[in-house]
Amino acid sequence: MRDQFDIVIIGSGAGGAPVAYVHARRKDRSVLVLEKGPLLRTQDEQDGGNLSDFKRDEMFNAGAERIINVPGMTNSGHPFFASHIEPDLNDEPHIFSDLAGNGPRVTIEGYTAQVVGGGTQLYGGVSLRFAETDFSLATFNATRTVPLKGDPTRDALRHVIDWPIAYKNFIPYYEKAERLVGINGTSSGQAKSQNFPFTTPDQYQVPRAPNPISLYAEAGMKACGFDTYRTPLAVITDHHAPSGRKAGDPLVGYVNRYGDPLGYKSSTWVSLLRPTIRKGHDLEVRPNCTVTHLVSNGRKVTEVHYRDESGRERIVRGTYVVVACSAIESVRLMMLSAEHDRTGFGKAIRFEESGSHLGRYFLTHAFGGAEVAIKRHRFDKSISLDSDFATDACAQPAFLDEHGLWAGGAIYNNTSDQCLPITLARTDGSTDLDTFWAGFSGDMAKRGDGIIDWLNKDFGTRLSVSFMANQVPRYDNRIELHPTLDKWGRKSAHIIKDWHPHDGAVMSTLAAVCEDILLAGVPGATRDDISEGSVYGNAVRVANHILGGMRFGETEAESVLDTDCRVWGFENLYVTDGAFMPTSGGGNPTLTIQANAFRVADLIP
Ligand SMILES: Cc1cc2nc3c(=O)[nH]c(=O)nc-3n(C[C@H](O)[C@H](O)[C@H](O)COP(=O)(O)OP(=O)(O)OC[C@H]3O[C@@H](n4cnc5c(N)ncnc54)[C@H](O)[C@@H]3O)c2cc1C
Repeated sequence: MRDQFDIVIIGSGAGGAPVAYVHARRKDRSVLVLEKGPLLRTQDEQDGGNLSDFKRDEMFNAGAERIINVPGMTNSGHPFFASHIEPDLNDEPHIFSDLAGNGPRVTIEGYTAQVVGGGTQLYGGVSLRFAETDFSLATFNATRTVPLKGDPTRDALRHVIDWPIAYKNFIPYYEKAERLVGINGTSSGQAKSQNFPFTTPDQYQVPRAPNPISLYAEAGMKACGFDTYRTPLAVITDHHAPSGRKAGDPLVGYVNRYGDPLGYKSSTWVSLLRPTIRKGHDLEVRPNCTVTHLVSNGRKVTEVHYRDESGRERIVRGTYVVVACSAIESVRLMMLSAEHDRTGFGKAIRFEESGSHLGRYFLTHAFGGAEVAIKRHRFDKSISLDSDFATDACAQPAFLDEHGLWAGGAIYNNTSDQCLPITLARTDGSTDLDTFWAGFSGDMAKRGDGIIDWLNKDFGTRLSVSFMANQVPRYDNRIELHPTLDKWGRKSAHIIKDWHPHDGAVMSTLAAVCEDILLAGVPGATRDDISEGSVYGNAVRVANHILGGMRFGETEAESVLDTDCRVWGFENLYVTDGAFMPTSGGGNPTLTIQANAFRVADLIP
């Protein structure tokens, strides 16, 4: 087995795969991707026409209910269901506490997916660009005099920095990601980038016809005076030349929270890694390999230590090392490496220095929305994609001024939400990922006729409109190591996080807009019919959007990564997952993570 490569990349998801794609296609370049999870093959990759490795419910299908038995946790003794591509909570938990000291509790929040392709295997594929102002929220707010809602001292702005790259310089990488990943959608109506319109033609494939239930959301957005566009989704609707995938008839409503057995959803495995390997480039992907720590010599990372699928310790060397484990696990890996060598790696990454930014400004998204049941109609949501219509109206400066908000977000309808009875039951009454199934399995009325009445009323009838907005960055929101050991004897990641009060203002404002959209779009709906809400008050809920913790910036004094996403203090160590973001952006983050990874790939010599 080879143990020396030009580039070693840790993690095969949104942040890792684009770097592998670019470098493996360069002449005489050898690239290794180490991935902790398994390689799940699509149906066409199987010999003899067997079914794919994906199961019908990737997130919660690994057998019967279990019990949390991690000592010292407030939720020890609670039941949970495990997934076959996430760690078992007892084996490798994330620990969560809020800033008021509630906790610690064990949680699966903050894991995306542990599989080749990472979170892009399970994601809904919503691939929005961020707004232009999302890149420069410090500058944008510096000249505003509008009072911020519920924040008279403008405390929310205390830790905000601009991204060290302007939106206009980022556009080519958005275009590259949109073309190479394989995304359908429309650009017309995407007002957020009005200073820098999409180039014509744009890189999108043509969307499929919207699900009829989504038309109520579109009507509502239009009635509210908002421009709409077809939500960009990372699912191919046509032949995709860059990855060699053929168009087909995806039942993509099954895709959000599921792996796609047919490969139409543009996970980084089917869109970037697999085609590169098939073309014969020098790219090796080693699944089931968990990197335990990095070793350095001065300003150079010299060794990557990992355990292979049999648990054996192994070492590889790379001229360059790229960390893309998804933000929490990347911070954890840096901290574990620092603890392993406090005076070498630890000093270079300023692990124990006061004022160090490592692990700080951890971010997710402010999110929530509104939902209504369409009376006397049932829709087959399984035949459509995750979302059909979106609007940028709430990211516009005029909207932010009118409502006294520091930053805004995107709004889109969820079509595939609860598209199967299993997903309706799984999410019934749940408030976070760990309580999935709790509402259903604890409700004795959902038996016999009760379950039939419930399905008759709720299945295929619900329409939701969601928002995804910037979370206020706070120094105190952070990732640390927790003494609880995982199954390998390594300290766990401790997520310490809370909302800023102004996050509450952002969320209640945008949830009210979602309610207005449904009220305007669904004939006969009254406010009493619509439920609206957000995750404000539920700090543990991270939306699977795991960002920050190693933000990039122009000076070492304010960041962990330089503008090229190279770790200050190292010559050959880069981070390309969501950890680089100093602010979380007003939209789902994966397209931006991919675009940034393509940008960084061009900067690695
Ligand atoms: C159900 C679901 C729906 C989502 N929907 C959307 C959506 O519609 N739109 C959107 O923009 N985003 C969505 N997301 C979020 C999206 O998946 C993430 O933003 C994205 O995958 C993050 O990219 P990343 O590179 O930071 O991490 P990932 O893509 O998660 O990749 C990290 C990889 O690193 C591996 N890894 C971790 N530690 C190690 C280690 N020590 N050694 C080796 N490998 C390691 C992991 O196994 C993983 O494969 C969704 C996520 C989920 C789970």
